[in-house]
Amino acid sequence: MNKFELKPLPYEAGELQPVISADTLALHHGKHLQAYVNNLNAALPGSGFEEKSLEEIVCQAQGGIFNNAGQIMNHNMYFEALRAPRQDNAPTGALLDAINAQFGSFADFQKEFQQKGASLFGSGWVWLSLDKDGKLVITQEVNAQNPITRGFRPLLTFDVWEHAYYVDYQNRRPDYLAAIWSIVNWDVVAQRM
Ligand code: MN
Repeated sequence: MNKFELKPLPYEAGELQPVISADTLALHHGKHLQAYVNNLNAALPGSGFEEKSLEEIVCQAQGGIFNNAGQIMNHNMYFEALRAPRQDNAPTGALLDAINAQFGSFADFQKEFQQKGASLFGSGWVWLSLDKDGKLVITQEVNAQNPITRGFRPLLTFDVWEHAYYVDYQNRRPDYLAAIWSIVNWDVVAQRM
């Protein structure tokens, strides 16, 4: 039977400062994500999903099992694609070419991504994915949803649940969305293409 584990962060808790504080990261990774892992492990026995991969569970399950599995996948993708702040942080190569072709420029892409993150009502995630035709798309996904359930290939996500930013930015979700670009690990995002 599967037992899911909390994936360690690929950086120290203070490394994302000042964009994301060590306190936020400790709560977000150590408490919120750990709870989703614990909840999924507790729900698996007798569910029929005991031997399934995380991706299979996200694509096939519903209700509480979907919610906890989705949140594990979403948070792993979010945390793994962050790193210490860099000035003028931007994608390069084929990923930048694709962004320019689809959105006009990296700045136009950022504007649309932030707008969709800021206007998502309630809790959820804003995503950049490749759709079924290989075209870059930005989607709003509520609660634990992931574009993988649409048959898309997810590349980048910003968590817009309040727990992701409230300690550092209070109600200013747009400020969090504007600041987080400097800590995106574009190498990881490009590898997902
Ligand atoms: Mn979160």
